[in-house]
Amino acid sequence: MMVAGESRNVLIVLANPEPGSFCHALANAAYRALTAAGHSVELSDLYAQGFNPVAGRHDFTTVADPARFHYQSEQAKAAREDGFSAEIAREQARVRKADNLILIFPLWWGAAPAMLKGWLERVLAYGVAYVDGARFDTGLLRGRRAMICVTTGGTPERFSPQGVYGPIENILYPVQRLGLEYMGFVTEQPFVAYAAPRVSGEARQQMLAEFGEKAVAMAALDVDPYQPPCHPLDLVEAGAWSRS
Ligand SMILES: Cc1cc2nc3c(=O)[nH]c(=O)nc-3n(C[C@H](O)[C@H](O)[C@H](O)COP(=O)(O)OP(=O)(O)OC[C@H]3O[C@@H](n4cnc5c(N)ncnc54)[C@H](O)[C@@H]3O)c2cc1C
Repeated sequence: MMVAGESRNVLIVLANPEPGSFCHALANAAYRALTAAGHSVELSDLYAQGFNPVAGRHDFTTVADPARFHYQSEQAKAAREDGFSAEIAREQARVRKADNLILIFPLWWGAAPAMLKGWLERVLAYGVAYVDGARFDTGLLRGRRAMICVTTGGTPERFSPQGVYGPIENILYPVQRLGLEYMGFVTEQPFVAYAAPRVSGEARQQMLAEFGEKAVAMAALDVDPYQPPCHPLDLVEAGAWSRS
């Protein structure tokens, strides 16, 4: 257990193609606030890295079945045999090292950009981030904390219960609940920069300050990253987890 006050490893995953975007400003604000507070921060700027979001055989140096591409089976084999491509292995190492994960992205058609969706699919792989039966409070990434930071074009009114888009919690549910929490992360309330292109410059400065504080506040909380006693897939075969 790492208690409050200790230094944390924080991974920021950023998915916006424009270096001058407000998403980048938010990432910089968190980076500066966290490093000033004594934490170590790594940034995966997915567009800048040229990350490929499309899943396929190029994810692997190993092959489970050359005749039929079953993605989770290929991920399981790669997890056992160190068979992920260099790009995926690098990102997985960053996730393993992180006590806190922060995802920063603009809302595009009510969801994360395909770039980030692809990162989730390819990096948080079967055998690495989850296996059969180990989910939520037994998820492989349990003991870590995560937070979503999203920018929107729409105003808060559009995201109210009566608004045309509905509550932001509903929109973020697939990433927050079926992604991060499924894998064991304890999640913070999302940080939402509503109507980022429409608000005043002062309002944006306020958002940057608030987000920096929120990132530092998360890093001040206890974490206890899970270290499996053996390979997670051995635990599946031994029936350590219920599949229900
Ligand atoms: C394909 C697509 C689908 C979309 N779907 C939706 C949707 O479903 N729902 C919805 O609500 N919106 C939607 N949008 C709008 C989108 O969510 C917003 O355009 C986006 O969230 C804005 O965030 P950004 O980081 O791209 O900001 P930007 O547009 O890059 O920046 C916003 C403003 O911040 C300024 N800025 C940059 N850096 C700083 C700084 N350091 N300090 C102060 N100001 C700064 C910029 O100059 C700009 O004026 C969609 C957009 C696209 C392209």
